[in-house]
Amino acid sequence: MLHMQNIGKLYQTEMVQTQALREFNLTVEEGEFIAVTGPSGSGKTTFLNIAGLLEPYSSGQYTLDGIDIGKLNDNQRSDLRNQKIGFIFQGFNLIPDLDLFENIEVPLRYRGIKAKERKKRVEQCLEQVGLAGRARHLPQQLSGGQQQRVAIARALAGEPRFLLADEPTGNLDSLMARQVMTLLEELNQSGTTIVMVTHDQELARRTPRNIQIVDGQVADFTLYQGGHAAR
Ligand code: ADP
Ligand code: ADP
Repeated sequence: MLHMQNIGKLYQTEMVQTQALREFNLTVEEGEFIAVTGPSGSGKTTFLNIAGLLEPYSSGQYTLDGIDIGKLNDNQRSDLRNQKIGFIFQGFNLIPDLDLFENIEVPLRYRGIKAKERKKRVEQCLEQVGLAGRARHLPQQLSGGQQQRVAIARALAGEPRFLLADEPTGNLDSLMARQVMTLLEELNQSGTTIVMVTHDQELARRTPRNIQIVDGQVADFTLYQGGHAAR
């Protein structure tokens, strides 16, 4: 479970001060699939980066599976992130010189997993995203949708309990976007908790719970049941 209570985030540069999040409150239960929408600059990426332990917050309390993040040192935070969290980004963030196998292997090397086990897991993940047999292709030899599936495989390799996705379909045409969404739904059904930032209202409506962020706060949430909004 992910629990944020009165989270504030202040960005301070020489000239400007930006309150990116203010009194931000959110609980995400185990097994949920949540879509996060909101205007540009409203704090969606900031929220996701804090949730994923990539960025510190300025105030409030954040607990992940009961662990108070504010009490951890840098190493403990990195370990927790590697253990529990997978990321997917709009730009895929694959390493262009590495083939698919090597890209997916990166987080496993980082976690000190042995070669034989790495091979097994990479092959499983490629299979899971429908790209078995493409292990030795380079990212540039794939379509955008396929590259995003590789990025999802890489995120899955570490068997994360939480998958955080920042505009995962932002660079894809609508058919590929729907395919990636279907894959995320399958992952969610097999137990991964997913938080997805998106501008795509159609995809957002496919998830059971939507939250909207406006001016650094959760402005509204909607529960969809069988396609009908219930507030
Ligand atoms: P969104 O993802 O909803 O577009 P962001 O979380 O990226 O919004 O940004 C929220 C606000 O914080 C914006 O005003 C943005 O300019 C500001 N911001 C984001 N990152 C930084 C940073 N590294 N330094 C200073 N300001 C930032
Ligand atoms: P990595 O292990 O990938 O280098 P770290 O966890 O060490 O990343 O974070 C990099 C920097 O960002 C550290 O200096 C740390 O202080 C800061 N930081 C990252 N996440 C948080 C967080 N949740 N709370 C406080 N500081 C953070």
